[in-house]
Amino acid sequence: MFNLNTLLRPHILTLTPYSSARDEYTGKQGVFLDANENPFGSTLDEATLDGTVLEDNFNRYPDPHQQAIKQRLAPIKGVRPTQIFIGNGSDEPIDLLVRATCVPGQDSILIVPPTYGMYEVSAAINDVALIKVPLTPDFQLDVPAVLAAIQPRTKLLFVCSPNNPTGNLINQNDILTLLDRFPGLVVVDEAYIDFAKTQSFTALLDQYPNLVVLQTFSKAWGLAALRSGMCFASEALIQVLDKIKPPYNISGPTQQLLVQALKNVAGKDQMVAHILAQREQLIRNLLNLPLVRHVYPSDANFVLVRFDDPKAVFDYLIGQQIIVRDRHRVKLCEGCLRITVGTESENEQLLAILTAYANQVPTTV
Ligand SMILES: *Cc1c(COP(=O)(O)O)cnc(C)c1O
Repeated sequence: MFNLNTLLRPHILTLTPYSSARDEYTGKQGVFLDANENPFGSTLDEATLDGTVLEDNFNRYPDPHQQAIKQRLAPIKGVRPTQIFIGNGSDEPIDLLVRATCVPGQDSILIVPPTYGMYEVSAAINDVALIKVPLTPDFQLDVPAVLAAIQPRTKLLFVCSPNNPTGNLINQNDILTLLDRFPGLVVVDEAYIDFAKTQSFTALLDQYPNLVVLQTFSKAWGLAALRSGMCFASEALIQVLDKIKPPYNISGPTQQLLVQALKNVAGKDQMVAHILAQREQLIRNLLNLPLVRHVYPSDANFVLVRFDDPKAVFDYLIGQQIIVRDRHRVKLCEGCLRITVGTESENEQLLAILTAYANQVPTTV
């Protein structure tokens, strides 16, 4: 049923990609007079770079295919290097997937709100129609409604699991049903997968040519400033993304830093363990506060918390320089603030200020 060639926009299928200088010769040694670089170096002097892990090759264009990263990442994720696309944040592959498959003004994508905002923004930027099928009140897929809402020109279906902003995993069997029944690409956004005790959908890539898995370096890996995301998919689809991306989408310093970061999986796992312990403590403490109506279970590094007067709580927190995410106007998240799990001391400050807030509001009967 799934056919990548009919799913892609016809001009993408036949597109000749830009051939970069670094594509034509991949050796490391040589006299490089092919890319109009500055042969003398850069204005970053040795003093600036002293003590950093960065190699001083800022005057050279980086590897457009990020081979060093993919070689390290593939065994960590249990995929082949050819099944990996590295993006400038996972927001880049989200946009590339929309542009590769959706004809503006004609095609559509399907999302299941409440969910991550970038799918909708990317559709809007590209003049692509959006079909919304709300999650059930327990934040799970309404599979019959999703299947009924699919149009002949619906190309992509985005499912975020663990979901942002609700924090829960989406039932795996429901995603499998959609993979079986939806003729377009099912994009499973696993930005928070490291915080969940479940297997990644990457294990199913060889079974489902219509599966795309997104992950990111911005959360568990602690590298939000690098703007780097991972996209895992069939070799054929990765080749398409490679064809339409800006040739040097991942900067040289970013590539060097990612290679270093990937040597320290244990460090990432340790941070995740700390965050999970803090999450459980934060949930326990929040539940002890009378002003907290509900704390939703979380498989992520944040919790969705319901209050009677979320706007007042939000404003009070801001006044005390505690910034959380206001989601109370989002359908199915009425009354809710999304709170990232911080350090022990940050979480304690939050709880102290929530307590102070409760003490200054006159209790209503
Ligand atoms: C944070 C987040 C991302 C990550 O985006 P980057 O562009 O990689 O920083 C992706 N998806 C979801 C659902 C997120 O919450």
